[in-house]
Amino acid sequence: MKFNLNNIVRESVRKLQPYSSARDEYVSDGSEMIFLDANENPFDNGVNRYPDPYQRSLKSLLAEQKGVSESQILLGNGSDEVLDLIYRAFCEPNLDNIITLPPTYGMYNVLAGINSVENKEVLLTTDFQPNVNEILKVTDSNSKLLFICSPNNPTGNSFKKERIEKLLESFNGLVVIDEAYIDFSKDESWLSQLKTYPNLIVTQTLSKAYGLAGIRLGICYASEEIIAVLNKIKPPYNVNQLTQQRALQRVLNQDLVDQEVQQILDERDGLIKALDNLDFVKELYPTDANFVLAKVDDANKRYQQLLEKQVVVRNRSTQPLCENTLRFTVGTPLENKKLIAILKEMK
Ligand SMILES: *Cc1c(COP(=O)(O)O)cnc(C)c1O
Repeated sequence: MKFNLNNIVRESVRKLQPYSSARDEYVSDGSEMIFLDANENPFDNGVNRYPDPYQRSLKSLLAEQKGVSESQILLGNGSDEVLDLIYRAFCEPNLDNIITLPPTYGMYNVLAGINSVENKEVLLTTDFQPNVNEILKVTDSNSKLLFICSPNNPTGNSFKKERIEKLLESFNGLVVIDEAYIDFSKDESWLSQLKTYPNLIVTQTLSKAYGLAGIRLGICYASEEIIAVLNKIKPPYNVNQLTQQRALQRVLNQDLVDQEVQQILDERDGLIKALDNLDFVKELYPTDANFVLAKVDDANKRYQQLLEKQVVVRNRSTQPLCENTLRFTVGTPLENKKLIAILKEMK
């Protein structure tokens, strides 16, 4: 069956007449105008005006860097907003379903619950790869979204290219590839495949490698048609002025981002070596991200011991296939040194 976006968009969204804001109706060309159209306070304090609802400056920079067009980008208040918009555009509550591949990012399931959409879970294989046959087996005509997190949180590994390709070719809904950790990965982003697959959505974020978790900026790349649907339903001013400014500054300073990423990767190697030498660490899983998942003898005990030493890690033991695992985010060189010293002292 050939992919047809019109069959995927919710009827109410297709029929929707979007809200038209003051900043939609008149787009400034940069000349000195007197703005009396949006009931703002006229006294300049840097943020007295509504922000650009389409974040044109930031999008134009991202488009240039990533080799896509501006009309293929939607920005949101974190990836979490972007993901929620995707549900609301494409999933009919109490009718449609989505597919997720646990152990994975918890928000996909929470958003399914919020939007009253069934989540069909298909466990990863024991080496944390998508089980393609099982996924296609549970897929039905109401399966609208398939979430692929690669590199995957909390396991850390990237999924095999051939498996993702097979899913992109066989799944009739949208395939959302969450690339929150792509800047740490040796693998190439799926962005370059947007032209090949009309059902592909790639999400990225400034929260991890870019060091801007506090400003909330999530990015969605997809076909112009998919982005047009999402633009119809997004809140008009969903990315605030301060966020747009800080994001722009940071993306312009790509050298510093690259330098920090390299330092995190070097530190990760040191952390892996140290963890590998500990008796209570039973297994270390391959990672392509800025964290390491480790199987230990007793995760609750080790978690508590670390907490007593003022170190907070994530206990992932409740996740399927992750019994007795702890997830360690890579910190600064000093933090990692302290962590390793504490781990070595643990009995
Ligand atoms: C951290 C993370 C995100 C980021 O979400 P934001 O809302 O952009 O901060 C997205 N996906 C995964 C898998 C993550 O681990």
